[in-house]
Amino acid sequence: MPERAETESRKLLRRLRDTLAEPGKGQERLDRITSLIADSMRTEVCSIYLFCDPETLELCATEGLNEEAVHKTRMRLGEGLVGRVARGSKPINTGDAPSERGFRYMPETGEEIFSSFLGVPIQRLGEKLGVLVVQSKEARQFSDDEVYALEVVAMVLAEMTELGVFVGEGEAMGARHKQPVLFRGVCAQEGAAEGNVWLHEPRVVVTNPVGDDPQAELERLTKAMDQLRLSVDDLLAAANGTGLEHREVLETYRMFANSKGWTRRMEEDIARGLSAEAAVEKEQSLARTRMEQANDPYLRDRLHDLDDISNRLLRLLTGQGHATGAVLPDNPILIARNIGPGELLEYGRKLRGIVLEEGSVGSHAAIVARALAIPLVIGAERIATEALNGDPILVDGEQGVVHLRPEETVSSAFRDKIAMQAKAQERYASIRDKPAQALCGSVVSLHMNAGLMADLPSLAGSGAEGVGLFRTELQFLIRSQVPKRGELAALYARVMDAAGGKRVVFRTLDIGSDKVLPYMRRPEEPNPALGWRAIRVGLDKPGVMRMQLQALIRAAAGRPLSVMFPFVAQMEEFEGGRQHVLDEIERERRLGHILPETVEIGAMLETPSLAFAPDKFFQMTDFISIGGNDLKQFFFAADRENELVRRRYDTLNVSYLSFIEQIVARCRDHDTPLSFCGEDAGRPIEAICFAAMGLRSLSMRPASVGPVKHILRRVNLDDLRQVIEGARDAGEMSVRPAVMEWLKGRV
Ligand code: PEP
Ligand code: MG
Repeated sequence: MPERAETESRKLLRRLRDTLAEPGKGQERLDRITSLIADSMRTEVCSIYLFCDPETLELCATEGLNEEAVHKTRMRLGEGLVGRVARGSKPINTGDAPSERGFRYMPETGEEIFSSFLGVPIQRLGEKLGVLVVQSKEARQFSDDEVYALEVVAMVLAEMTELGVFVGEGEAMGARHKQPVLFRGVCAQEGAAEGNVWLHEPRVVVTNPVGDDPQAELERLTKAMDQLRLSVDDLLAAANGTGLEHREVLETYRMFANSKGWTRRMEEDIARGLSAEAAVEKEQSLARTRMEQANDPYLRDRLHDLDDISNRLLRLLTGQGHATGAVLPDNPILIARNIGPGELLEYGRKLRGIVLEEGSVGSHAAIVARALAIPLVIGAERIATEALNGDPILVDGEQGVVHLRPEETVSSAFRDKIAMQAKAQERYASIRDKPAQALCGSVVSLHMNAGLMADLPSLAGSGAEGVGLFRTELQFLIRSQVPKRGELAALYARVMDAAGGKRVVFRTLDIGSDKVLPYMRRPEEPNPALGWRAIRVGLDKPGVMRMQLQALIRAAAGRPLSVMFPFVAQMEEFEGGRQHVLDEIERERRLGHILPETVEIGAMLETPSLAFAPDKFFQMTDFISIGGNDLKQFFFAADRENELVRRRYDTLNVSYLSFIEQIVARCRDHDTPLSFCGEDAGRPIEAICFAAMGLRSLSMRPASVGPVKHILRRVNLDDLRQVIEGARDAGEMSVRPAVMEWLKGRV
């Protein structure tokens, strides 16, 4: 880069910073900035356009265009050259603007006399803020050097915008991060919550984007890069022996930390006059923009890694980040791009709600949120950029909607909704000790699903008769290595203690598919949901399964033990798992340990194949539990995690209900106790329909026990069965409309 350009650029940035530091209103400052830039770039025109809403840009200051056009001229995103710069997040550089594709003449600006046009986006970490434009009469292309210089200026402006420097009059200059924003995501755990934003990873604020002494800034960058390399090496050393994927991410980090291209670009930015942190952020911003445009999932992942490592570098440079000294607000609602299950558990029940930009319904975070019964919305794009610590926020887990900085009318309507739910909870509390007996006299036993010790206190409050499904994988997912037998035995014993003699059905480790242990080597699988998971892993590599069975047997010590195997697809698999239980009991007996008082061994029916297993299977199992989440996805061949298809097929579809009916009949023929423990059991309408098809045991989230019991006590299951059969005979696809009609006035 020519020395002169470098000095010019540094001079401009310094003057810019000094101008920004001078007192004055937002508008005055902007005017001064545009004249400064025009002067330094030797152009007749410099204009700043800012967004007044996500779709519209407004001319906010200009040197060289008609003054009257300021705060009047507006364009839509993608409209005209300015709109195109904003939409594409890329500079446009032309010596002949009027003949450029998309040019739109704005008569009020008087810009017809200017031929050349250079526009660059003003954006911070992928967030579009506006467009910076220079124009001149002379018909010439701007040099690469000039484009680069203007980009650096735009970067500094973006930082200053973030710091609230341009707050002034006019819509586009209103204070950022003050308006209400609505986010539509996907519900991953139901419930409604009102609270205040807690950013899991608070944004690093770059307070001085301009560096006075390039040499000193370079040294700061080099030192931080050295620290970064060391910390990545440490992480890699610690990750030895862990899962391939985890190490791959760290290897990518290392690659970036040693990347000459990345370092060189940041050094060039510093030479132009940026501070070390502003240089890091400029590159990060570019990566974010590319990330948004990249279709290739591999490239997106790598850009994501670059984004993460940039954050680490920023924290090293600024000393900000995790230890910012901020304290958790009242009623904290956690906002993050994504979060691991271990970190979420550390927050525990302190959180009122969780909103993530990424994540999936079956992700570990979702499993933990569900276990903690904290409303969770996922897929709320850009919320981590938009929200500030402490902002008021409403989370509607049912609708998958989040209101950030809501208007008072929205808040009060929301509070009404929460109050109504609280009233309903009171109603449910009043029937807590009553049986779930329908009007026809049939009694359905209701149990709860759990996965953490912390779930157990809900057992008494919910009115559940026991734990119908204890998911044991969480203890494995949140650790960095396989838990020890002693630890597990102690935990399972505490769970049984807390259940106070009520039945707890422990499901053996259900890993694979979406639940991947970071420390376990796994083969690459083309379709993990149909792959090496659950009992298949347990039978092929029995070490962990046997250890877990030993822990369960020791925990029971004189008490009844119920164990079930997940994802059994054929009888032989169940036989294999059952034999392991019997062998371990025998081994424990030989070792002189106290054995369980009784042992029940059950199977989860999660694949259609098992419904057609030989009679012997139904005779051999002590009980069967339908894992409806998986069963439904395989029945309809619709991935439970894929938003495009997961709601496509109704649980009350006639084919599915008929299938459930067949399973009920087979179990009845062999006197095999049957229950249903997928999420659908906790949905009141689904629950009564299952009961009408003959299911007499349901296991669900603790919060669903009340609503399900309430509705069950108000319906006659024989009548409901007739309604379902009527709809089926009439050839309906789903019985839902008929059931809803019938329910009117009954509940
Ligand atoms: C199910 O599949 O219905 C189930 C209960 O198991 P999980 O959701 O843990 O796969
Ligand atoms: Mg399952």
